[in-house]
Amino acid sequence: MTDFPQGSIWLVGAGPGDPELLTRKAERLIRSATVIFYDALVGAGIMDLIPAATRRVAVGKRSGRHSKDQKTIDALIVEAALAGEHVVRLKGGDPSIFGRATEELDAARAAGVPIRICPGVTAASGAAASLGASLTLRGLARKLTFVTAHARAGETLDIDWQRLADPEATLAVYMGKAAASEVSARLIAAGLPPATPVALVENVSLPDVRQFHTRLDLLPLAARTALGDGPALLLIGEAMARPGIAAHGADSAQQAAAHPAS
Ligand code: SAH
Repeated sequence: MTDFPQGSIWLVGAGPGDPELLTRKAERLIRSATVIFYDALVGAGIMDLIPAATRRVAVGKRSGRHSKDQKTIDALIVEAALAGEHVVRLKGGDPSIFGRATEELDAARAAGVPIRICPGVTAASGAAASLGASLTLRGLARKLTFVTAHARAGETLDIDWQRLADPEATLAVYMGKAAASEVSARLIAAGLPPATPVALVENVSLPDVRQFHTRLDLLPLAARTALGDGPALLLIGEAMARPGIAAHGADSAQQAAAHPAS
């Protein structure tokens, strides 16, 4: 295959989990690789597409359960390429969004190994599809911000909350489950209305997807009580208001904590 010679690497986006959300290119690359280094977030249905003879190496990272550090992963993929393999580095969602792609691109380039990216559907796009909602909204949500709320152990989040608290933006918060209380408190302190609509979506695009609507001030409660063990995305902003439900106003308090979405 001309775009996947021996000794080269593809960083492939696996999307949020549903194998039908893979690009055709991703599927072709997965089928042509001789070795696949995959993340914990890659869905089981996607792993099933890997031919039985292909070597698989789990390099999965889930918060708090790092199985291999980034430098080790960089070294492993480069080493495999230098040994003449067709290397796929399979990542959840899109490789270029909170995927540590730069480290792997740099490591490959430093070793003279050709490396390319195959994009994937990012979790925020998958979440919008689950919700049946648009991330942008004419006149109301003119901006879409991808932010990660993952802090290093023992550190507080290093985020400019004032800049994030934009009532005309939709905020897609990745890795935000553990920090939901801080996200809520800081955004309200920075001026976002407490009744700002929030959607939480767990296990986007998978059979056990769960989604909830709540409001910014009730987000900590919802994140604590409504979510399970799976990866979850927080979507914050007026675009997440459910049709027919006023985001602001006297009756909005009745929306209570986490309403399972229909
Ligand atoms: N590159 C990925 C993001 C990696 S960061 C992408 O583009 O989607 C990992 C975070 O992404 C998780 O903590 C979660 O916030 C989000 N995420 C990834 N897959 C998800 C899924 N299937 N459902 C919900 N959130 C998901």
